[in-house]
Amino acid sequence: MGKTILKVQDLTARYGPIQVLHGINLQVSEGEIVSLLGANGAGKTTLLNCICGLHSAKEGTVEFDGQEITRIPAEKVVRQGMAHVPERRQIFSTLSVEDNLWLGASHRMREAGKQVILQEIDQIYQRFPILRERKRQMGGTLSGGQQQMLAIGRALLSKPKLLLLDEPSLGLAPLIAKEILQIVQEIRDQWGTTVLLVEQNAIGALAVSDRAYVLQTGTVMLEGTAKEIVSDSRVQSAYLGKA
Ligand code: ATP
Repeated sequence: MGKTILKVQDLTARYGPIQVLHGINLQVSEGEIVSLLGANGAGKTTLLNCICGLHSAKEGTVEFDGQEITRIPAEKVVRQGMAHVPERRQIFSTLSVEDNLWLGASHRMREAGKQVILQEIDQIYQRFPILRERKRQMGGTLSGGQQQMLAIGRALLSKPKLLLLDEPSLGLAPLIAKEILQIVQEIRDQWGTTVLLVEQNAIGALAVSDRAYVLQTGTVMLEGTAKEIVSDSRVQSAYLGKA
């Protein structure tokens, strides 16, 4: 296994007076796909937002690539190599597909140069041929699955060491959801990108993950390899629909 790229220790978070994360510990190693599972409201999105700097943790620490980044704002964290695809994607619906992709690389433009970024956009088009076909179309005209591909492609153009994906299969038809999760696995296999994945679709997520953490009311109720989690009876009855 690779070196630890993300380490969360004793993390707590609140919304006003209400504490929603109660001392979370988790680690992700380089090259892994790790899932955060759990019911609605368990705290998955809040945890992801604390990691990427969109929500300020109350206590505890987040270490990324050997540096403490707790409470560092999201725009700085992205420059350190963490990309975040939020729930419901948030692509720019009135910009073209290609302009959306350019925006993913905008902070690297000066350093990398236009030619390099053009080549990288071409790699994204190779990975997602439908985006090349639709490159002049406005982002908002794409289907849900295509918008998710665009959001992932845009995030990859920031050349992340760690990709955070919040419910990439949300609202997609089952076959498209499966395709998106398979793409996540292919990206890791081809490019070695480390992925932390929030999903309510536990079966789909576990099929492509190395390890998983199950959150319940703001605490880690269970952690283990995908195989261990799939066969845990508590998970089977609570999340996998098996008695
Ligand atoms: P979901 O899958 O529904 O997004 P989740 O596991 O990601 O669930 P969170 O969205 O992190 O859970 O929510 C954790 C708790 O915090 C929930 O009780 C939720 O109601 C509450 N919460 C989330 N966002 C806010 C907010 N902006 N203000 C107040 N409470 C919030």
